[in-house]
Amino acid sequence: MMKAPGACGGFHLETTSLVDGPNAIMSIDLPPTSRLQAVFADEDPGILRGVAWVKRFVERWLADDRLRAAYLAQPDEVAGEHRVPRELAGYLHANIPLLASGNLVLRAYGRYLKRRMEHRAEMRRECAPALAPFRAWRERQMSRCQDQLPDQYNEAILHLPVAFELSKGCSVGCWFCGLSAARLESVFSASPSNRKLWRETLEVVREVAGPAAGQGIAFWATDPLDNPDYEIFCQDFHQILGRFPATTTALGPKDLDRAERLLRLSWANGCDFNRFSVLSLAQMDALTAHFSPESLLYVDLIAQTRSSLTPKAQAGKAMEKGENAPALVSSEPSTIACVSGFLINMPNRSVRLVSPCAAGPRWPMGYRVHASSSFINAKELRDEIARMMADVMKTAPPRDRPVRLRRDFKNPDRLADFSLSELAVSRLNQGCVTGTELALELESEGVPMAQTFHSLNGLFDQGFLDDEPEPEGHEMHA
Ligand code: SF4
Repeated sequence: MMKAPGACGGFHLETTSLVDGPNAIMSIDLPPTSRLQAVFADEDPGILRGVAWVKRFVERWLADDRLRAAYLAQPDEVAGEHRVPRELAGYLHANIPLLASGNLVLRAYGRYLKRRMEHRAEMRRECAPALAPFRAWRERQMSRCQDQLPDQYNEAILHLPVAFELSKGCSVGCWFCGLSAARLESVFSASPSNRKLWRETLEVVREVAGPAAGQGIAFWATDPLDNPDYEIFCQDFHQILGRFPATTTALGPKDLDRAERLLRLSWANGCDFNRFSVLSLAQMDALTAHFSPESLLYVDLIAQTRSSLTPKAQAGKAMEKGENAPALVSSEPSTIACVSGFLINMPNRSVRLVSPCAAGPRWPMGYRVHASSSFINAKELRDEIARMMADVMKTAPPRDRPVRLRRDFKNPDRLADFSLSELAVSRLNQGCVTGTELALELESEGVPMAQTFHSLNGLFDQGFLDDEPEPEGHEMHA
């Protein structure tokens, strides 16, 4: 069983190599404490231990309908059995605010949840890419998502600048996979030539995203642990991008020793958090038998069980199967996509520029593909990314193509700042004139062209103009 963090939340790890042989990389000498752990450094260790037990209980409660029924019927007995304060029932059953609780552990748990949210907001800010056109494009996507998706989905989307896939397909085959992962076909092994390409790929991404590239992840429609060399690639990632990538895996319960080694390695390299996707109560039993509550204080167990209280996002396979399992799938517009940036598959050597959206017939996986390409080597990748940025990440609305307000843009009050006449709004809703044609038409009504272009630039910057990629066959960014 893993040891719990010390009072400062840090772990003391051996500095042994992860693997032997030519691919071996030594871990760094002094394990830093992750930022997330550091914010709890002042908490009393006994209270923090209580918080860990509450966190574990809530995760089980979310996953297990039998526990929920038992807790409702006999709250005090169940609380005692699970070592949580009896007042927790007030929070779970009656939504009584934690921070108002008279119980010290529950108040600390409230602080823990609040700090987790603050930490998430901080990470979202740190995902802003270094290059201005990329940064502005991401902000426009965030603004669009803010309008198109319910709050609970928006809060969860970090808009990462990059995600890598180190496999082709996924072995897990979840019925609800929001990205409709195909069957596992191949993995990107850490051969010397692949390592070289991987490291050069990371450098290319660092050039366009800057420090934000370190917030990227090394999985997408893949399970990271399908790749036996995942940990090696993570260490390259850390060395080149300055951060050890966060992991979400459904395969942790199948190889608990590997999961434990990965967690230790990630913490040793300052990783803020990791997640296990838990598909069954048996898997939750295995995880909670292996790891103490304290050791999973910074590792989330995501309830993906049949009786989970968290509905599956209506995207990908869940959207296809939703009609057969309406109680399990969200009825709201949803997505699990979290990248406004580049999606790079290493075995395929493919690169796509994507952004989240509500899944639907046009984008069933809950993300738009703004451009896609392939590459053989890092130079080609660099060229392709530069081309995609030039084609897609415009710094002003194109003057020679029709401009249109987003089709989902329904609130005319938000146009108040742009001094647009009825005619201008009508033309922008129709999307039948270019920016220049609109400016000329409005000029004949006495509106200076400069004023129209100024308004169009403002609408563009706010993400109000439609930039949805053309359907296939009409690709502007081939
Ligand atoms: S949800 Fe994750 S683990 Fe499950 S099939 Fe999709 S990619 Fe694989």
